[in-house]
Amino acid sequence: MCADHVFPRHTRVDLPVVVAGDGAWLIDANGKKYLDGCGGAAVSCLGHSAKPVLDAVKQQQDTISYAHTSFFTSEPAEKLADKLIELAPDNMERVYFVSGGSEATESAIKLARQYFLEIGQPERKHIIARKQSYHGNTLGALSAGGNMWRKAQFEPLMVPSMVHIDACHYWRFAEPGEGEFDYGQRVANQLEEMIQQLGPQNVAAFIAEPIVGATMGAVPPVEGYYDRIQEICKEHGVLLIMDEVMVGCGRTGKYFASEHYNIKPDMICIAKGIAAGIQPLAAMLCSAEIYRAIKDGSGFFQHGHTYLAHPSACAAGLAVLEEIESRNLLERVTELGAKLEAGLQKAFGQHPHVGDIRGKGLFWGLELVTDRQSKSPFDPKLGIAGRAKKAAFARGLMIYPMGGTIDGKSGDHILLAPPFIYEDEHIDMLIERLALALDDVFAEQQ
Ligand code: PLP
Repeated sequence: MCADHVFPRHTRVDLPVVVAGDGAWLIDANGKKYLDGCGGAAVSCLGHSAKPVLDAVKQQQDTISYAHTSFFTSEPAEKLADKLIELAPDNMERVYFVSGGSEATESAIKLARQYFLEIGQPERKHIIARKQSYHGNTLGALSAGGNMWRKAQFEPLMVPSMVHIDACHYWRFAEPGEGEFDYGQRVANQLEEMIQQLGPQNVAAFIAEPIVGATMGAVPPVEGYYDRIQEICKEHGVLLIMDEVMVGCGRTGKYFASEHYNIKPDMICIAKGIAAGIQPLAAMLCSAEIYRAIKDGSGFFQHGHTYLAHPSACAAGLAVLEEIESRNLLERVTELGAKLEAGLQKAFGQHPHVGDIRGKGLFWGLELVTDRQSKSPFDPKLGIAGRAKKAAFARGLMIYPMGGTIDGKSGDHILLAPPFIYEDEHIDMLIERLALALDDVFAEQQ
């Protein structure tokens, strides 16, 4: 069709050319249809033909398509910020619009550092994150992440002030006989230990995903974990940053996933579903206290990008929110999520190679193991999750794989994050096609 000049991420794979989208489906140049079971990477929450959003973008582009934020604000940015603050935990006050998840997490990390400079605590530089986490691929965000597969080859990274405590993943990491609550308290208390080790006066923030996405496969926290984390942050004046890039914007049945666990963070990062993939948009929300420190201090956030608060992207975000509200899609996510959970349990609850099924709303993970009892991961060289993605794609289903061992303990998993506009029968179709794809992969393994 064209000369080969696009630099793809996977350089040895020939990808089909996508030519159309229709609700929950994507269609390639040969007319083959793919059921979207993962929203790309938990992005396309309204599917692929959301006319009201497309119309809102067109209308905005006819009005004003771009204006640099050092000169102007715009109506869609102002309106979308108002709506997001209405929906957000009540201590949130301001919204900083960027173009992607990594920009949002980097903005939060830099804002945490600048906040402490503004209030006269310049020594607070350390950011604590968790192992097996992912906060983006730019070098600052990658430093915060704890997924070694993604970062090892770029060591030493540019941000030496990032340190990591254990993740909260009971099924995979609890000691034999340890109860869920006790496990959660034990791993949360590592934050206290790390703060003491670094000196509380040196720590700026703790960053984590409320429900872990891409690196561990939809792992919700255990009860009491975030209560303890919040207590520790408060006690030591450490800011709490919730990375909801994957799980925010309604994916779990509430607009912000933090709401499920009564988390009142100082900053929240959202992206992916915020504009349903129709425009590139992300946001970092911060508390009144943080905003005021900048406003009453230097009056300038020492950070920015060319496409901050892009009017067409914000218009898309606003239209997505209107769709979510007018079509009661948060309730629909909860309803479809219950159907998906029941279907996954029925189809894979006893599957010899599905060790764990977990998630919330329309965000589910299946962890693939050599056998259910030992929970042993597959040899990463087998590339099981990648092969599952390929087999599913051949059968006309998109799923999001993550493979390789993580610190030698965790392994391949599949992430499901279908659009909120699914009909009930799409859930059945997803499960049927996934079952056939896993059969294909494990038959090859015999
Ligand atoms: N944070 C989390 C939790 C993510 O899942 C991702 C992407 O998957 C990012 C940050 C980075 O977002 P982006 O790829 O839009 O830069």
